[in-house]
Amino acid sequence: MQQLQLHIQEGRDERQTLFCDVLLPVPVPKYFTYRVPYALNDSLMPGCRVVVQFGKKKILTGIVAEVHDRVPEAYDARYLLEQLDEQPVVQPLQLRLFQWMADYYMCTPGEVLNVALPSGLKLSSQSQVQLHPDFSFATTEHSFNEKELLLLQSLQAQDHLSYADVEKLLGQKSLYQLFKNLLAKEAILLYEQVKDKYKPKTVRRVRLQPGLVQDTASLEALFKALESHPKQADVLLKYLREVPVLKEPGRNEKGLAKSELVDAQISPSSVRTLVKNGILEEFEEAVPRFWIPEADANVDIHLTGEQQGARQQILDHFEDKDTVLLHGITGSGKTELYISLIREALDNGSQVLYLLPEIALTTQIVGRLKKVFGGQMGVYHSRFSDNERVEVWQGVLNGSFPLVVGVRSSIFLPFHNLGLIIVDEEHETSYKQYDPAPRYHARDTALVLARMHGGKTLLGSATPSIETYYQAEQGKFGLVQLHKRYGEAQLPQLELADTRLALKQKTMKAMFTPALVDGLKLVVERKEQAIVFQNRRGYAPYINCEECSWIPKCQNCAVSLTYHLRVNELRCHYCGLVEYVPTACPACGSHKIKTVGYGTEKLEESLRLLIPEATVERMDLDTTRRKNSFQVLLDDFGDHKIDILVGTQMVSKGLDFEGVTLVGIFDADRMIHYPDFRSHERTYQLVTQVAGRAGRSSKPGRVIIQTSNTELPLLHTILVADYLGLYKTEIDERRQYFYPPFSRLIRLVVRHSEKELTETAAKALAERLRSKLGVERVLGPEEPLVGRIRGLYLMHITLKLERQGLDVPAVKQYLLEQSQQLVSEKAFKGVEVVPDVDPY
Ligand code: ADP
Ligand code: ZN
Ligand code: ZN
Repeated sequence: MQQLQLHIQEGRDERQTLFCDVLLPVPVPKYFTYRVPYALNDSLMPGCRVVVQFGKKKILTGIVAEVHDRVPEAYDARYLLEQLDEQPVVQPLQLRLFQWMADYYMCTPGEVLNVALPSGLKLSSQSQVQLHPDFSFATTEHSFNEKELLLLQSLQAQDHLSYADVEKLLGQKSLYQLFKNLLAKEAILLYEQVKDKYKPKTVRRVRLQPGLVQDTASLEALFKALESHPKQADVLLKYLREVPVLKEPGRNEKGLAKSELVDAQISPSSVRTLVKNGILEEFEEAVPRFWIPEADANVDIHLTGEQQGARQQILDHFEDKDTVLLHGITGSGKTELYISLIREALDNGSQVLYLLPEIALTTQIVGRLKKVFGGQMGVYHSRFSDNERVEVWQGVLNGSFPLVVGVRSSIFLPFHNLGLIIVDEEHETSYKQYDPAPRYHARDTALVLARMHGGKTLLGSATPSIETYYQAEQGKFGLVQLHKRYGEAQLPQLELADTRLALKQKTMKAMFTPALVDGLKLVVERKEQAIVFQNRRGYAPYINCEECSWIPKCQNCAVSLTYHLRVNELRCHYCGLVEYVPTACPACGSHKIKTVGYGTEKLEESLRLLIPEATVERMDLDTTRRKNSFQVLLDDFGDHKIDILVGTQMVSKGLDFEGVTLVGIFDADRMIHYPDFRSHERTYQLVTQVAGRAGRSSKPGRVIIQTSNTELPLLHTILVADYLGLYKTEIDERRQYFYPPFSRLIRLVVRHSEKELTETAAKALAERLRSKLGVERVLGPEEPLVGRIRGLYLMHITLKLERQGLDVPAVKQYLLEQSQQLVSEKAFKGVEVVPDVDPY
């Protein structure tokens, strides 16, 4: 060994010229070769980041894929500018995974890298620099040279500077060494875009000056005093709406985040004035980065007999299979089993990845796992800031996080020894990324990742995807089942409530059938809890003029605007466009504008009216935008400060609350009739998941599904929890109509801002593809359900390919070539063709 090293050293002493192939985060399907400065000959190795010039102006960070001495023939290689790491930050296996994803999902490894690397590791000429929030000259133990001081002082005055700003300020081009030193001294932070900017760990909140408002009289006096200051009165009004201090005096202490008080009508300066005048009080609240319960290393897991058996079967299957499906009903203790398997894998010295879908359930499961694994566990979540992501990345590299719990993007972390991947709720659609490329499925990628590491994958679900169950049935995956709930808990009783009948008999209250209202009342009376599920947020899907039928539509997308009552706005759920609600119809001037249909917000409001004694809260995208709001809602529900929780699919999964004895489900029909070959499967999964929230302790659970058609066969399959029945029907249909798992789908999305051009381009492309691939394999073009999003018209071409006997990589190559050819033609200038492999 010693000798070998000596030999290499000697070799390099002869001033050997080395080159390196660098992977750059750009959508070009190749690596770029740079020349290695002599000084770096000994230290540069694959997986290190390097800074290079790309094109005329751009400076980018890339990853060294290979160091070699092959002189590139085509061009004069530039020197790389700097090596950023002494040790690799990307593992060789990761580079292989990136390449696999690029090939399979029809994109470039650079696009994969771009999504994979947290931007804190992607220093580039687009980088921005800010002071580290904990930095101050008074407390730092480091000393700084002149240029460093100049930069730090400017940052104290300026909040943040761009790369170009700093170049100008310091009068020098190469900034990497400087940034690197300041990063090491924890004086600055780098981030990619303004949105990634590091958020401080505290939030500023305001509350009424304690003692100021004790009763109605003092409140009236206060408003009187503000009579000539309407803006300040508005602030106060909004505060009182959010924090009803007279009804619940205790709420004032926690106050309201300043950012929640300030909105389109309320300016920060009127809030400031109220603070200055001693009416409001401002204070700071620390926000924990991670929610970490006390770690208890001695948590013992005692699996039940059935669970023990399942665990053994899983291990037995792993002897000769890479993948096992754990099909266990909700509440059967799958998580408990995962914990025991994770522990064993960690004890054997391997790394473990626990994948979760992108939903609220992370908080609860993370809490459970943290109790067992404490500081060994890193959490990787899309809601985290980039700095937190960098921390986890480094923790995986340096071995301090052998276990990672995270959402789909955690498959990109720098593992080197993955023994086990768990994909919880493997059927979840949020494992598929749609935009930007790579449009990957994290479950499917996880199988490949595990195989690269020689590790195993455990897929878990109460309602497996049809594709996964098919693999298990075919013997490709091991299959292990859990049929019983843990302890005394029983599966809930499911029943249908007929909305058509209730309408006819005039017994509907708002949108609630008598069965559901009575059920909810009973729950509240018995001091139990309920969940009401409606997979549509907002107050009403649209508003409508009664005189002329005018409906406000989004100007960028082919959808109507959703009415949100609390903020009194119309919002587009596709592009985020916000409009004020007109008081008169802009088409005919009538004031008769009504809301049509209902979303979670309306259900919440109706429930408050129907059952005034109940505390009702709502959990959906609108009430949980802020980082900790999930947690607050979950804590409150857990502490039984909430009787009825209304929500979208956020309430449907993973939540484990003993008190829940009733679940109400709205709009099952709409889900069933959604035009997609997976709609029955999806409805079954969603309804079963939501239903599974009921009866998780000794108290029996009840689930009421509202429907206008009680005859629908699928509903009866759901009622008796007949997963196998669903599977048989579905798999037969898929076989008959040649859908996955029997075929492989690739979708080409054609898009452009002009409708006609989009359609002609899509037609032309489909024609050309048909001429070579045949009519059977090329479907469409077809306009998708929402035919225009963010100003772009969309057309879909769907490829249905055989799984056997077809050279799929060649077909993919052909599709890419044809797409590129099309968009390069003058007639189709500006058209985009976006490939989506295994679309969802
Ligand atoms: P699933 O993930 O299958 O829905 P969970 O793992 O959440 O089921 O288990 C349901 C409930 O039963 C949880 O509260 C869990 O703590 C409890 N539980 C399951 N198995 C055990 C066990 N062996 N010992 C103690 N509690 C258990
Ligand atoms: Zn009108
Ligand atoms: Zn829109």
